[in-house]
Amino acid sequence: MRLKIDPLKCVRCGLCEVACSLNRDSVLTPMSSSIMLHVDDKANYFGLVLKSGGSCLVLARPEGTSTGQQAGGSGGPGAKPILLREACDFCEGSPRCALICPTLCITVVD
Ligand code: SF4
Ligand code: SF4
Repeated sequence: MRLKIDPLKCVRCGLCEVACSLNRDSVLTPMSSSIMLHVDDKANYFGLVLKSGGSCLVLARPEGTSTGQQAGGSGGPGAKPILLREACDFCEGSPRCALICPTLCITVVD
């Protein structure tokens, strides 16, 4: 199982982040989720970062999706840097981020 992210479908609602943290920590906050939305309004730019197994990061930006080990941003004051967060465990088989994403930006593929 893996998550496929189509960044051009993202409407930047942030629901994936809070769904992840709610499932993981029973807290509604984007500060520790395995998926992180980055929005820069001034630059009219955004991206999603997913921490998957082995500290691999999936970077989903308007230019395309790539994988790597690059350090991501922290997601705001008080938030853990993405590399220090728990890796995605697919919510033990029922990925909440994909279920809640209103635009099918995140989908599950085998
Ligand atoms: S599948 Fe679950 S653990 Fe993985 S990023 Fe989505 S909500 Fe978080
Ligand atoms: S839930 Fe979907 S549309 Fe909303 S921020 Fe996450 S990926 Fe983007």
